[in-house]
Amino acid sequence: MKAMVLQRPNTPLVLEERPLPIPRAGELRLKVEACGVCRTDLHVVDGELTQPKLPIIPGHEIVGRVDAIGAAVTGFSPGQRVGVPWLGHTCGHCPYCMSARENLCDDPLFTGYTRDGGYATHAVADASYCFPLPESGDPATLAPLLCAGLIGWRTLKMAGPAVVIGIYGFGAAAHIIAQVAIAQGKRVHAFVRPGDQAAADFALSLGAASAQDSDAPPPEPLDAALIFAPVGALVPRALAATKKGGAVVCGGIHMSDIPSFPYALLWEERRLLSVANLTREDAREFLALAPTLPLKMHTARYPLAKANEALADLREGRLQGAAVLIP
Ligand SMILES: [Zn+2]
Ligand SMILES: [Zn+2]
Repeated sequence: MKAMVLQRPNTPLVLEERPLPIPRAGELRLKVEACGVCRTDLHVVDGELTQPKLPIIPGHEIVGRVDAIGAAVTGFSPGQRVGVPWLGHTCGHCPYCMSARENLCDDPLFTGYTRDGGYATHAVADASYCFPLPESGDPATLAPLLCAGLIGWRTLKMAGPAVVIGIYGFGAAAHIIAQVAIAQGKRVHAFVRPGDQAAADFALSLGAASAQDSDAPPPEPLDAALIFAPVGALVPRALAATKKGGAVVCGGIHMSDIPSFPYALLWEERRLLSVANLTREDAREFLALAPTLPLKMHTARYPLAKANEALADLREGRLQGAAVLIP
């Protein structure tokens, strides 16, 4: 198999030829059809997430076909299309696993971070964390659902029954979840990096009611704000834009420091929340919902060997929607 491998943080990925991995008991081997490039991959490659298995094959938005089935796996058949998300394994017995919060498991494995992921022609995954996907359709447009979509969905759910929603940072997650929110009858206001007209136009083309620079006030007070940009300075701005009792939900795994701010921005029962990982229930829920919605997926496709270029384009904000690697 071929894989793009991170040897150590802050170095380019290297194309390697490796023997095909053999799935162990409970595992599936997949022939990868597409793998999304997520901002979290950038945090791994750039050393901002500090505990990767090294060397590591990044990538946790894997769409693949079952290629080999390990012992004791039931419910999957050869050639079936499945998706593999960030949550790669949980212990099943810690207090979090025992209370339906496996996203917070004390002893988890994460795809493309602490177990090898999908920047490759083949990948092995724990079958209990693989999800059936539609058999037909373009795998590149399914891949971003597996993290940008799932984490976006968990972020949106944590905002509660909000109608007027601000979305800060209009990348892959925002472009999916804005469409989901609009389909649910919510009004979405997009906040983009100051001066990024292309991102503002992109948000409007997807149905956002308005799009403005992230340092501008909202056109109407928000019931909730979702922050996908890894920029801590957005937290006080989003709180200031949010109504009494509203929620500001940080959807990313890493963010620059949050500057100090007056307590008045938080007072009046505003809530400041973060999203960590996902549960399998989130995945089942969202992967069932997504095909029922008129989602328009915007992807930028790269051959597997160009993974470093995809990461660079994401880092520099040069793409709209989601980057996807095609092996
Ligand atoms: Zn656990
Ligand atoms: Zn991700």
